[in-house]
Order: sequence, then structure tokens, then C-alpha cells
Amino acid sequence: MATHSACKQAPGAFAPVIDRNRCEGKADCVRVCPVGVFRVETLAPAQREGLSLRGRLKGWAHRWQQAQAVNAGACEACGLCVLACPEKAITLARTTP
Ligand code: SF4
Repeated sequence: MATHSACKQAPGAFAPVIDRNRCEGKADCVRVCPVGVFRVETLAPAQREGLSLRGRLKGWAHRWQQAQAVNAGACEACGLCVLACPEKAITLARTTP
């Protein structure tokens, strides 16, 4: 997993993975991502399924606003979103073998 800007990769080689039980839609990732990967949106009902009790309570408390990686293919794995998220909700995962 890349965690620093020195680890920059070709766009799309990695993608952010957002932990739905942790994200509170605070949008720090939206602000720090240099390539516009994120947007904060209302979590779709299908994405609410499988949340833990704590995740459901958090979701309700934050009006179901969560980050979505709407432009994940642009991710360069700089790691800024991982560092910026106050809920530690973001990790990076390789998309190619
Ligand atoms: S790792 Fe960097 S480029 Fe990729 S989503 Fe996070 S902030 Fe954006």
C-alpha cells in the first residue's frame, strides 16, 4: 500500500478503498486529492447493507453523507487522502495483478 507522495504510480494502478463503517463525509479527501477522485454524496441504500451497528449509527448521524471515489481511475496513489482522513477510512488497493 502506498502512503506517501513519493510513491506516485501510473493513474489507475491503485484505487482508494473507503471503509463504509468509518467514513463520516467530512470531505478532507475531496480537498486534498490533486486529481479530483472524490465527491461526497448520499450513500445509496444498497451500500448501507452490511454496515455494522456502529456504521449505521454513524451513517444516520451524518445524514448518510460519505465519500465516493467517482474518478478512481485518475488515482496516482500519492497517499494524501489516506493521511488526511480523520476517520482513517481510506486505504489504497492495487487494481492490477
Ligand atoms: S492517493 Fe492521491 S491521487 Fe489517489 S485518491 Fe488519494 S489523494 Fe487522490
